[in-house]
Order: sequence, then C-alpha cells, then structure tokens
Amino acid sequence: MHTTDKNDLALFAERVQHLVPEGAYQMLARAQALEAAGRQIIHLEAGQPDVLAFDNIVRAGIRAIEAGHTRYGPPAGLPALRRAIAEDAGRRRGIEVRPAQVVVGPGAKPAMFFPTLALVRPGDEAIYPDPGFPTYPAMIGVAGGVPVPVLLREEDDFAFNLDLFDRLVNARTRLIVLNSPSNPTGGVLSRAVLEHIAEAARRYDLWVISDEIYGRLAYDDQPVPSIAALPGMAERTVICDGFSKTYAMTGWRLGFGIMPEALAERVELLLTHSIGCTATFTQYAGLEALTGSQDQAEAMVAEYKRQRDVFVAGLSAIPGVRCRMPRGAFYAFPNVSAFGRPSAWLADYLLETVGVAALPGSAFGPNGEGFLRLCFANSMENLQTALERMAAALADLRPG
Ligand code: PLP
Repeated sequence: MHTTDKNDLALFAERVQHLVPEGAYQMLARAQALEAAGRQIIHLEAGQPDVLAFDNIVRAGIRAIEAGHTRYGPPAGLPALRRAIAEDAGRRRGIEVRPAQVVVGPGAKPAMFFPTLALVRPGDEAIYPDPGFPTYPAMIGVAGGVPVPVLLREEDDFAFNLDLFDRLVNARTRLIVLNSPSNPTGGVLSRAVLEHIAEAARRYDLWVISDEIYGRLAYDDQPVPSIAALPGMAERTVICDGFSKTYAMTGWRLGFGIMPEALAERVELLLTHSIGCTATFTQYAGLEALTGSQDQAEAMVAEYKRQRDVFVAGLSAIPGVRCRMPRGAFYAFPNVSAFGRPSAWLADYLLETVGVAALPGSAFGPNGEGFLRLCFANSMENLQTALERMAAALADLRPG
C-alpha cells in the first residue's frame, strides 16, 4: 500500500533519500511570500544579478522564437553554439577545446550532475568543498558515491587547505569537485593550489569537476586559473560553466560542460534520455551573448567590484561582524558567530525584523555555520539600506 507521507523516506529509492531543498530557493520563496503580504524586502539571498539579461541577448532570443527556432535540436547543443563555446572557453583558459568536447545543457547544473552520474560508481569517494554549492553532495549521493567534504577555512582565505586535502585523497577517491571563484565564499584557488591538486589527481588517476561558473567574475585584475590548463589535466577534467551569472541569464537556463570526447558522448546520452535537448531559442540567445559585444558584461563586473568594496567595508564596520574580501563571484560571506546564534536563526531574524533576505552559511554545509551569505549584485542604494537595517537589527542582539 502506498502512503502519501512525504516524510516516510522508506517509500523512496535510497538514491534520493538524502536530497534536501536548496536554501536559496527556499529563502527566495519565503521572501517573496512576505513581499506579497506587503513587506518591502531587499533580496540578497538569490545568487543572481539584480539586472535582466542584456538587450542584444533578449532580442536574439525573441528573433529566434519568431524565426521558428522552437523545435527539437541536437541533444548536445546546436553546432554553432558548441563551436562558439569551444572557441571562447578555450581562448579564455589558454587551452584548445574541440566542439565535440562541449555539451550544452539547461544551466550549468546538468554539466556537473550528468558527468558525476557517468563517472562515480557506488562506494567511490568524491571530495567536495564545505562550505560549498549544495548540489555537489546531492549529485554525489544520487550517483551512489560517498561525499567527502574538505573544509574551507576563513583563515586560509577559503582556499583548499592542502594538508586537510592530502589526508582525504586516497585510492578510493574517484572525483574531486572544485569551485573557483567559490560560492558561497568568494575564494579563488591559486595556481600553486591547483598544481598540488592536479598532482594528486594524476597520481591517483582521478577525475576533477571544475565548476568555473564565476570564472569571469573576478576582481584581482588577472584571469582565474583553470586546473584544465595544467599538464595532463584536460583528459581528466570536466569544466562546468554557463551563461547564468556572466550574462544575467539565470532563468533562461543555459550552461555547458567541457570534457574529454568519450565522456561527452556518455553525457550526451544521459541528456538524450532525460532532458532531450536544451531550448533552441535560448541557445540562439546564448550564441549572441558569446559572440556579441562583451562591453555590458565587463561593465557589470566592474560595478560588482565597486559594490563589493562598499558592501564588505560596511559589513566589517558592524560590531560583531567580520568579513573577508571575496576575490571573485558576487557573495559576501561574513562571520557572524560572535552573536552566538545559529546562522539559520540569524537569517530568519534579519528577514522577519528588517526585511533583509540572506542565506545562512549552514545551507552550504556544516562548515558554513557561523556565516551568512549575501549576494552583492544589487544596486548601491539597496546595499546601503541593507547595511543600515542589518546594523540596527544586529545592534539589538549584542555580540557575546
Ligand atoms: N555552480 C555554482 C557554484 C553556482 O553557484 C550555481 C548557481 O547558483 C550553479 C553552478 C548553477 O548554475 P545554473 O543556474 O546555470 O545551473
């Protein structure tokens, strides 16, 4: 007899029992519900720019719909888009990428989820960052792997701590997931750190999924290095990237993976039998995003940098709050442990009392406890108001 009790996990296959909702979607829904009830909310919870996709991109999408590009396309993506991605992504990383290595999907998530399904066997260990993007342990678990968190620490500027990493990597490890610049910390992995990880990957014959979705949102005036460009790594690396963040296209659902051709063929089969193909007109919009002028995308990054500087300085000025300067992505990840409350409690408190929507660090793994994640891709005015409101609300709590 089937019950309808959604908490009765025994109803479901083991591979989905560990899945939990993503904090960002949950908090967004709560904040929107408060807004619908008349509250004025500043949205710093969702990982998306507050602006819409640029005009040239929107127009290309509309033109594609009007031209009838609304039918099935090839599962791995339109050939013209795969070629453009291969050229652009390869040039930016200093590597050669063939179009056959590119698999297009609806967002960047499929470019990590499907390669994980294709590579990780039951019982294989997979190392991933904590705090980190919650999809990593979710996808490793669905594949039947053993998620092995590597702690990112504030005192290391949220880079991989190589001593901790060396203790975790072993003959049972199959996969290492990297994310640089990182969500939620804004940390960037240096070339030296990547070389160390690459050496372990070659020694243990491992795969790396390198989530580079924030690769162009970097503030140090130098390109963020990709592990795929290191010797012997292209053949064991999946680069995961997309259009959501760089081109403010989160709801268009467009991303891609770059991987060795044999793996790309397997991932294409997984796409064929699950998604079928990615929306065709969205891909035309993506083609325009890549091949059209980059001025707006670049101006946006320059603006994020200004927003980051103001917002992080403002957070650090609040008694009890300590905030590292993020080197990439568009998140501040302040340490709020001085208030002696769980981060989920603090996020609720800020939403309820002053209408500032933030995510608790614990939404990114146990090691995120004690932090909040705030997206600063917002107007200077909203950021200033959020700072004032947070300072007032937190002053009432008095750091312990
Ligand atoms: N990877 C990281 C680190 C992210 O933060 C996100 C989105 O928040 C994604 C991947 C997913 O990107 P997409 O929306 O294109 O699937």
